[in-house]
Amino acid sequence: MFVEVPKISEEKEVVLNPKESALIIVDMQNDFVRKEGKLCVPSAQETVPRIQSVLQKARSSGALVVYTQDWHMKNDPEFRIWGEHALAGSWGAEIIDELKPKEDEFVIRKYRYDAFFESALDYVLRVKNIKNVVVTGTVANICVLHTAGSAALRWYNVVLVKDGISAMNEFDYYATLRQTDFLYKGKIVSSEGVNF
Ligand code: ZN
Repeated sequence: MFVEVPKISEEKEVVLNPKESALIIVDMQNDFVRKEGKLCVPSAQETVPRIQSVLQKARSSGALVVYTQDWHMKNDPEFRIWGEHALAGSWGAEIIDELKPKEDEFVIRKYRYDAFFESALDYVLRVKNIKNVVVTGTVANICVLHTAGSAALRWYNVVLVKDGISAMNEFDYYATLRQTDFLYKGKIVSSEGVNF
């Protein structure tokens, strides 16, 4: 079967006020990025330099930086779907060294795909007067899309970095772009094109 990708709008450049913007780096943890990880997304490693470049821009402009960290208890019900991964306290649950959070940056531990679900994320963004969220990370159509969608439902402006996300296959990747554009009215831009 062959499915055509509908037209997806993309921006050449998105310039954001750093005082009202947050970079969210979703689940760039050993289990998802490393070959030895429990649920490795092979293309995630390629996105690391792209995410690093956006991270550098966010840090130097003073934009808020938030990391999400998938974090599961032993025998977590989610393991019925995916098998064991991101076990609390394990190597696999650690954020990769290349994107190591700084002391003053927020790490939001999350229990399901949506980083807003049962977490402090919305509270942190509101206290910091954030209006725009720039979303990067993995897995594109799972935790990235759920988090971007959940942000959009709360009326944050969503910016998705197209070369800063990774999926298990092309269908899932383009489905993420499609839903972000069509359903959530988010902006899609490259890591080079987003600036704070
Ligand atoms: Zn999980």
